[in-house]
Amino acid sequence: MDVDILRQVIRRRLEEGRLPHGQMMELGYGQGVGQLCDGCGESITWHQRMTVRICRDDWRTVRLHGDCFEIWDAERQARDEPAR
Ligand SMILES: [Zn+2]
Repeated sequence: MDVDILRQVIRRRLEEGRLPHGQMMELGYGQGVGQLCDGCGESITWHQRMTVRICRDDWRTVRLHGDCFEIWDAERQARDEPAR
C-alpha cells in the first residue's frame, strides 16, 4: 500500500477510535501468520514484521505491521500534541 494512503487510513482509524491514542506496551513481535493488521486492515504475511501491543488505557490488544506501528506512533503524537 502506498505510504500516503496508509497514513490516511491510520489517521482515520485514530479519529474513529478504532486505534488507541495512548501508549501501548509491546507483548510480542515476530513474523506475521496471516492475521489482519489493525492499522491498514490487510493481512500480515510471514515475511512481514508484526508487533502485538496492548493499550495501557483500556487493555485493548492490537496487531500491527511494523511499518503501520511506526506510522500510528507518529500520527498519534502529531495529533495529541497541543497546538500551543
Ligand atoms: Zn498494516
